[in-house]
Amino acid sequence: MLEGLIALRPSRSAAWARCVGRHYRAGARCGNFMYCLRYVGASTFAMPLVETEAIVLRTYRLGEADKIVSLFTRQMGRIRAVASGAQRTKSRYGGALESMSYVRLWVFERENRDLSRLNAVEILESFFDMQKDYATHIAAQFVVEVAEQLLPEREVNERAFRLLLVVLRALKRFREIDRPLVYFDYWILRLAGFLPDLTVCTECGRRFETETAYYAEILPGLVGPECRQGMAASARPMSVRSLAEVQRACAGPLDKWMADTGKPSGISEIRGFLESIVEAQTERRLITKSLIAEVT
Ligand SMILES: [Zn+2]
Repeated sequence: MLEGLIALRPSRSAAWARCVGRHYRAGARCGNFMYCLRYVGASTFAMPLVETEAIVLRTYRLGEADKIVSLFTRQMGRIRAVASGAQRTKSRYGGALESMSYVRLWVFERENRDLSRLNAVEILESFFDMQKDYATHIAAQFVVEVAEQLLPEREVNERAFRLLLVVLRALKRFREIDRPLVYFDYWILRLAGFLPDLTVCTECGRRFETETAYYAEILPGLVGPECRQGMAASARPMSVRSLAEVQRACAGPLDKWMADTGKPSGISEIRGFLESIVEAQTERRLITKSLIAEVT
């Protein structure tokens, strides 16, 4: 609706002109909200106001009073936006900019600029309560960190957006980290095109039967026992049977998997393996990966 409104180009009026200065400098909704929207939609600044759903990834301080918010939006992909006055105690954003919040927001898009400008944020679902449980909190932070590192800027990805929401909700509801994180790793790698074939040996291409497969951090995938020679002693074993079970589970909804009897044996090893691929793709050490290792 708002996008429709700003397309209008009102004639100049005293009220409109007065409003512009006040609203724009304050960067806030003022009493003449309607006029402000119209003004910004007019040709002078040509900054369209866009409405989108988003997940707050994290925030960074900007100067004394503002923050830069890293967001994964449904309609625009991953973006960064300036939230004026967000560091102030009585910020108009309230708790909406907490990491992992699922929000609806309005941003001014500035042409040829990296940073958008946040206009208003409304909270749809909070994941703030997860902070009470340290392991769940760290797991959710892992999801957010990977999303920020792996998802390209300004690339719409509806499936990744739904994945993030589903995984955060499962963490919040079930307080278990293995299955939600394995599901997340599996799908985020698959959606990004980085998931290796988990049914064959990376070295020789032989299909695994029911034996043990191995992985080491330097490898892009798994190897069978026949190709294990010469690999570092750090190579870790993984059950091919569990791996197949995980793949079957990931083909369906996460909630269904969570409602099932239990987790497959060796799921932590599979999670470790998928996380090391995520880390290889982001080309940096993930802070939260080592934190998870400490609590599991
Ligand atoms: Zn092989």
